[in-house]
Amino acid sequence: MLRLAIQKSGRLSEDSLNLIRECGISFLSASYKLKTEATNFPLEILYLRDDDIPGYVQDGVADLGIVGQNVLVEAGFPQLQVEGLGFSKCRLSLAVPRAAAYNSTEDLQGVNIATSYPQILGAYLTERGVKANLHTISGSVEIAPSIGLAEAICDIVSSGSTLLGNGLREVETVFRSEAVLIANQNLSAEKRELLEQLQFRMQAVRRARR
Ligand code: ATP
Ligand code: ZN
Repeated sequence: MLRLAIQKSGRLSEDSLNLIRECGISFLSASYKLKTEATNFPLEILYLRDDDIPGYVQDGVADLGIVGQNVLVEAGFPQLQVEGLGFSKCRLSLAVPRAAAYNSTEDLQGVNIATSYPQILGAYLTERGVKANLHTISGSVEIAPSIGLAEAICDIVSSGSTLLGNGLREVETVFRSEAVLIANQNLSAEKRELLEQLQFRMQAVRRARR
């Protein structure tokens, strides 16, 4: 039996459940439950916070997971990725106050930047020879400049309206993300065979959607 971890409640949840259902896999889901077993495929679904999914798959607590690539890479386990799933597309961007001058990444030299993604942002800046002071905060990153915590931020953007509402403008894309299927790297032969069947169905679903 394969154990698949998906986000319990959030932006990935509905599309993850829909994908599994469209693969022809049936299961009962009740919002208070933490796990459920499929009735017509050897699959158990675990409902977790998205941030916990990469670690659980790395450790083998779950065999598979569906998570944003942003969270996967930030957690330091990019090697777990099996394939992109094409939903929950978003980008991780740098933004500065609307009136602030900004020409290039160089302008961030020595600047205080608030973010929930210090690993991804740190690697991006290091590659470009920029040393900034990263302040890691777990939420409400967009308000950091207005309360004097930072001169710039790096956060997830999809439409840009949240940035605009906080007087910020997007200046650079750091990372592009989508939901990805991840797998533990030491699956048994039986589980690998089941994973292949699941991937085959997922790919058929995606082809049919186009
Ligand atoms: P949890 O309670 O599970 O920790 P969360 O608040 O960290 O949830 P969500 O806001 O539900 O996470 O986002 C989950 C993932 O969805 C993000 O990591 C990202 O990959 C993607 N995502 C975030 N914002 C958007 C958006 N505006 N549009 C599309 N996808 C997004
Ligand atoms: Zn989260």
